[in-house]
Amino acid sequence: MPIYSHSRLATYETCPLQYRYAYVEKVELEPEIETIEIFMGSRVHEALEKLYRDLKLSKVNVLEDLLAHYEENWEKNWSEDVKIVRKEYSEQNYRDTGRKCITDYYDRYKPFSDSRTLGLEQIILIEIEGYRLRGFIDRLAQKSDGYYEIHDYKTSQYLPMQRYFDEDRQLALYQMGVENLWGDAKSVDLIWHYLVHDKEIRSRRSAEAIEKLKAEVAALIERIEMAEEEGKFPAKESELCSWCEYQVLCPRHKHIVATSEMPVNKFLKDPGVKLVNQYARLVEEKRAFLDGVEAEMEQLKEAIIAYAKREGVEVIRGSDKKLSVKIDTKAKFPTKEEEERAELDALLKNAGKWMEVSDLNVYALARAMQRGGWSQELVKKIEKYQKLEEQYRLTLSALREEE
Ligand code: SF4
Repeated sequence: MPIYSHSRLATYETCPLQYRYAYVEKVELEPEIETIEIFMGSRVHEALEKLYRDLKLSKVNVLEDLLAHYEENWEKNWSEDVKIVRKEYSEQNYRDTGRKCITDYYDRYKPFSDSRTLGLEQIILIEIEGYRLRGFIDRLAQKSDGYYEIHDYKTSQYLPMQRYFDEDRQLALYQMGVENLWGDAKSVDLIWHYLVHDKEIRSRRSAEAIEKLKAEVAALIERIEMAEEEGKFPAKESELCSWCEYQVLCPRHKHIVATSEMPVNKFLKDPGVKLVNQYARLVEEKRAFLDGVEAEMEQLKEAIIAYAKREGVEVIRGSDKKLSVKIDTKAKFPTKEEEERAELDALLKNAGKWMEVSDLNVYALARAMQRGGWSQELVKKIEKYQKLEEQYRLTLSALREEE
């Protein structure tokens, strides 16, 4: 049975296809792709972990020691493979931001005597309706008044509003784990440190809110397990795609990625690029009412569909346009003019299903078959009349600057 985590659930919510690559197929990319945001966050976490680990043994680091630890880890771990998505910023910009996060945190909380640290990277195990979840708390602490504190460090550039924190799932799940592990943890504060903004945000959860969350988490895991059974993990594009490490595999991005680094002469000879450029030209000619465009376009569409199937792509990049290719299959039954129709009519009448599809509306029949609920025996008989016909839709749009 899989062990879930907040990030695993969040990945599914962000994009089911990304979830498939990460947790179902467990794809290991070579070289491993790490974004600079993740890299910088890890280095800052390491420095703050050192601060509190040493404090447990009564050693108070001066700020310079922590920064030296940060710089050393940056050097040791840095690789040219770390991906910088926002090209207007350099490695040094991120490195300086991490330093500032540590400095501001240090200045705000020194001499760090507000609470006693109970655990760093504290592992938490939770069980909800038979599903197991695991998490790691950046810092678990207790105040002198007995209040537990769950601290989470964030190095995101984006600062959400208070409502987000009051509904946040991650730390509320950790609260459940803390309450299970320590009998005296009746009062728990959830605390986020938005280090880039030098901001501390707090929230608390009532017993009712925790119960509601449990039901939501169980329902989400059920949905995920259903998707696994059905093998349905559709791609869900968003602005987060730019930070997705699986772009090289994703049908919506892999052609764009593969062609983005090509020298111009090679790029223009790429079969996908040529098809899109040709298609874009024909769209222009059609708009200008030129003769013979329709026939050429139909031929070209066939070539594009064949290319998309062969290469496993859904978006193809051209010089200044990209083409989205959507291929669906739709069930079709014989029409009134076709021979098999009489047999199908009789089959449905004998099965007592005739009224459901009236004078046999084949579209209604297709919908009923898709809906399910009829006996397997009947479905099998009807399926003999069914043909699967491919459908496609092409959408041409402008490339964004970063593509
Ligand atoms: S690139 Fe976007 S659509 Fe593709 S798998 Fe990643 S998140 Fe999903």
